[in-house]
Amino acid sequence: MVKGIEKRVIALFSGGLDSILAIRLMERAGFEVIPLFIYTPFLSKKMPLEIREDFKRYGESFKDRVIIHETGDDYLELVEKPKYGYGKNLNPCIDCKIFFLKIAKSYMENLGARYVVTGEVLGQRGMSQRKDAILKIEKESGLRGKIVRPLSLSSFPKTELEEKGILDASLFPSIKGRSRALQIELAKRLGIENYPQPSGGCLLTDPGFSKRVRVLIREHLFETGYIHAVKFGRLVLEDGIYVVARNDIENKKLLSLSSKYQINLFIPRFKGPVVAILKGDYEKAKMLSCRYTRHCPFNI
Ligand code: SF4
Repeated sequence: MVKGIEKRVIALFSGGLDSILAIRLMERAGFEVIPLFIYTPFLSKKMPLEIREDFKRYGESFKDRVIIHETGDDYLELVEKPKYGYGKNLNPCIDCKIFFLKIAKSYMENLGARYVVTGEVLGQRGMSQRKDAILKIEKESGLRGKIVRPLSLSSFPKTELEEKGILDASLFPSIKGRSRALQIELAKRLGIENYPQPSGGCLLTDPGFSKRVRVLIREHLFETGYIHAVKFGRLVLEDGIYVVARNDIENKKLLSLSSKYQINLFIPRFKGPVVAILKGDYEKAKMLSCRYTRHCPFNI
């Protein structure tokens, strides 16, 4: 049994299978795990409160334990100008991981924890899960020797926990590569069901969404509210930049984003789509709303 101040750890939790497995393995080994979910505006079409509801899948008390940290403008600066460049699309994974680990480190220090746990598996994804990249990320985050990867422990240099004899790597799995078979088998053994399929989650890995983000950067509109807005509706680049809702759900999303982030909207009095005006004017937005409905009362 782990005792004293070595016991508490912060776990980077993505909501997916690997991170919940890492958490369960550490709990089983006697650690007190504080799950930390870092919310960026690119992670999902869901807002933080809806995201928390998703964590119910791992139990009501687990859901309530997760710390959700929302990133700010410093994360947007990183996406705009990453030191280590992008992956296949606009995903700056190496910079992003360093950033996430630095946030975890500050929670670790503030909450009296000693280590950071991640669900990383050696060689599972592109550039950011190669060994050299992982070690560079570890060094830059200031967490050398303090990052515990319970799914791939034996593939990495020993952590302080192993050096001190508190953690025995031979009791942990040794997963490598892209196959998910070992994780799925481990999930069965640990009684973890109903986990989401790995779909990448992060919209920066999506080519279509990356194009939209490039437009925002180019037009100096790279702000949280606009990033959320371009997740919904048609993006129209015509005498300005507009987002035209495609259905009632998107109408409601744009309305709620508008009140939270002060985005200008055209709200039709006829049965037609709401239009967010990122750059442009009200008349053009009215015309676009008319274009996508059969109920426009104007002759335009
Ligand atoms: S996929 Fe997205 S969230 Fe994950 S490391 Fe890359 S940029 Fe960050």
